[in-house]
Amino acid sequence: MSSVLVIATGNKHKYGEIADFLRGVPVQLASLADFPPVDPPEETGVTFEENAVLKARYYAERLGSPCVADDSGIVIDALNGEPGVYSARFAGEGCTDDDNNAKVLAMLQGVPEEKRTGRYICIAALAGMDGQVHTVEGAVEGRIACGLRGINGFGYDPMFIPEGHDKTFGELDPAIKAGISHRFRAFSQIRSMLESGL
Ligand code: IMP
Repeated sequence: MSSVLVIATGNKHKYGEIADFLRGVPVQLASLADFPPVDPPEETGVTFEENAVLKARYYAERLGSPCVADDSGIVIDALNGEPGVYSARFAGEGCTDDDNNAKVLAMLQGVPEEKRTGRYICIAALAGMDGQVHTVEGAVEGRIACGLRGINGFGYDPMFIPEGHDKTFGELDPAIKAGISHRFRAFSQIRSMLESGL
């Protein structure tokens, strides 16, 4: 791995979380903002892995630098795995987090607490300049609240209650999310790979 690694995401929240997780790794971290603008790729994959690999490869080729990208989302059992890879655009192209949350809550109306199970999943992909891509997975189990609670985090956080807690990620201190999240679990593995010189 060369000494610069681009954290290839245009999502400011995700960038901040990932930069925190990778702080101190023996490579210099860069963001997409450090390069001339590149249009984001179309996320045509039907799995988190396909999309993570597609994004990491796309940016590595265009920026001429090793890149790490992730694809993540929420998988809800009572919705047969939806929103899944469509988490960002579940309520339609250009929708907001509020639109997505409202759609999920409406679809789960009447579903009892014990059936409101789900998980956040994150696949992180590390693309080097040799064309190789390594992927790792992180997940956090939880359940979906009956309404929105709290203002921390982003996306589905105000409705996601991680296992072992009674509060949503929206209500919990961000430091708690940072220590157990799907993204933390995936990027801890990326961190180990970078520390071992991959
Ligand atoms: P991606 O940027 O294509 O990976 O889309 C990820 C989408 O999944 C986000 O826009 C959110 O809707 C959802 N998501 C992923 N990680 C989180 C998280 O940590 N909290 C809340 N929502 C998340």
